[in-house]
Amino acid sequence: MQSRGFALVISAPSGTGKSTITKAVLEAESRCVQSVSATTRKPRAGEVDGKDYFFVSVDEFERKKRDGELIEWAEFAGNFYGTPRAFIEKAKAHGDIAVLDIDIQGAAQIRRTMPDAVTIFVAPPSLAALEQRLRARKTETEEAIARRLARVPSELAAAKYYDYLVWNDRVENAVQAILEVIRVESLRISRMDLEGDWLPKV
Ligand code: ADP
Ligand code: 5GP
Repeated sequence: MQSRGFALVISAPSGTGKSTITKAVLEAESRCVQSVSATTRKPRAGEVDGKDYFFVSVDEFERKKRDGELIEWAEFAGNFYGTPRAFIEKAKAHGDIAVLDIDIQGAAQIRRTMPDAVTIFVAPPSLAALEQRLRARKTETEEAIARRLARVPSELAAAKYYDYLVWNDRVENAVQAILEVIRVESLRISRMDLEGDWLPKV
């Protein structure tokens, strides 16, 4: 018997390796579908509209907010980001696990509005490793790197509100830990429909 669908929130300080890990989890677990956020940030080299993000103008983002199209939203390092409501509701109704790669403000909103969601905080092995990864990615200006690093203390302080802590020392370890969380959360009685005669006859 398959459990009902649910939202899986993954947050981490920028540069920890969240996108890398999420991609591997999506490849390994067929029940997982990625939630694609809307953002006013400009695309990085190689990012594809509709796949990595829906890249929108500030006006379009404001309209989405006004029309209730976003299940949560936040401003992060000077840009707006938000999760499309329709996708999450459809995924859950379909029995899928919707994976949301969102920041700590977004996770707090999901926790309030979606009590059946599972939240995971991914931590880098050290602050030095985090800074090194952020620089090695070569996608951000010095100013953007500084803005992202300045947020780290408040992000680490919010880790205590999450359900699970996963260390990204090595990608394989972090991916394995997240797959274990998915497996255990899928066994929760509260996610099953056990009314009536539920045991299969054959
Ligand atoms: P985030 O999505 O959290 O901002 P990324 O997935 O873009 O982070 O990863 C940031 C950089 O760190 C990338 O260059 C990625 O290849 C690298 N990286 C990710 N995980 C690890 C790891 N466990 N060890 C070393 N480098 C990593
Ligand atoms: P980046 O610009 O590096 O892609 O993302 C910056 C931060 O915004 C990351 O912490 C990422 O998880 C977060 N983020 C991406 N999409 C959303 C979203 O829809 N909502 C919220 N709250 N945060 C998001």
